[in-house]
Amino acid sequence: MSDTIESVKCLIIGSGPAGYTAAIYAARANMAPVLYQGEQPGGQLTTTNDVENFPGYPDGITGPEMMIQLQKQAERFGTDVRHGWITEVDFSGDVHKVWVNGEKEIHAATVIISTGASAKYLGLPSEQKYLQLGGGVSACAVCDGFFYRNQDVVIVGAGDSACEEAHYLSKLCRKVTMLVRRDEFRASKIMEARVRNTENIEILMNTETDEVLGDGQVVTGVRAFNNKTGEKFEIPATGFFVAIGHKPNTDIFKDFLDLDETGYIINAEPGTSKTNVEGVFVSGDAADHVYRQAITAAGTGCMAALDAERYLAAKDASFEVSTSTYN
Ligand code: NDP
Repeated sequence: MSDTIESVKCLIIGSGPAGYTAAIYAARANMAPVLYQGEQPGGQLTTTNDVENFPGYPDGITGPEMMIQLQKQAERFGTDVRHGWITEVDFSGDVHKVWVNGEKEIHAATVIISTGASAKYLGLPSEQKYLQLGGGVSACAVCDGFFYRNQDVVIVGAGDSACEEAHYLSKLCRKVTMLVRRDEFRASKIMEARVRNTENIEILMNTETDEVLGDGQVVTGVRAFNNKTGEKFEIPATGFFVAIGHKPNTDIFKDFLDLDETGYIINAEPGTSKTNVEGVFVSGDAADHVYRQAITAAGTGCMAALDAERYLAAKDASFEVSTSTYN
């Protein structure tokens, strides 16, 4: 541990749309935010090819390019953007203590958590190859479904997310084949009924993915197998959607913050960004298992910065709420 402790008014953890939006608002409100980017600067969007549903980009934009622009916008107003990984926190006192890379200690009057969530993947080499290439593997139907309109796709999973995404895809795609690994769904009965009653969704029970097939650039199909009979077969498809759950990146907060059973941070007051610890706020997918969109993450980033600013203003009379926030 270092001897020098840095004190900051506003520490933002994470560099997706939530973190950068919080930074833009906090910087414009004279909170001199310090933002730590984490392991994957730019967050989940850096693994997304084209973003076509973020308002303001009529021609679309690539995920990495959008994150560079958001970072520049945050820096333009004075956000101190740093490389580094937050390894430990102590939210037990009035001042919130945070350690960077297990060494540097920071004391923050306010903390905005924007650590996001990570989509789970099967882990097959062929799946990872086409995911990296941006060639037809996705964990977000709402983000990428549009690119597969009138085409055939495969989706893996049997929870509420998989059902919701399969149904969403069925309205765009010619055919959706759903691979369910057990002989029953995990999803609620109503969600299961919805996919079962959709004509262009074919459900294959007891079926797992053997390999994602492709031509070296893009996905051309899936080789699946029935785990009861061992039979292998190929399904032609241009898109392979994985909907087997997300893991929120919240492990380091579990001793201090209220989390649900999956690890999502629970908002202490619904409709705000407040957590159960005063001065600690959350934005983006770390607290959102429902919407999980860049635009909703950005919106809650804005809320977190405004909540942090008001918290500071109420606590410290010398910190004035700047009017710039509301411009
Ligand atoms: P879940 O954990 O509920 O479901 C994951 C699904 O993926 C399960 O069917 C699981 O199979 C399957 N799966 C996991 N690993 C693999 C694998 N390696 N290969 C094949 N299949 C696999 O995650 P969800 O994201 O669906 O839902 C998370 C939470 O969010 C839930 O509480 C859900 O109810 C909620 N939610 C609610 C919605 C709504 O109400 N509108 C919409 C979306 C989510 P198995 O069952 O065999 O373990």
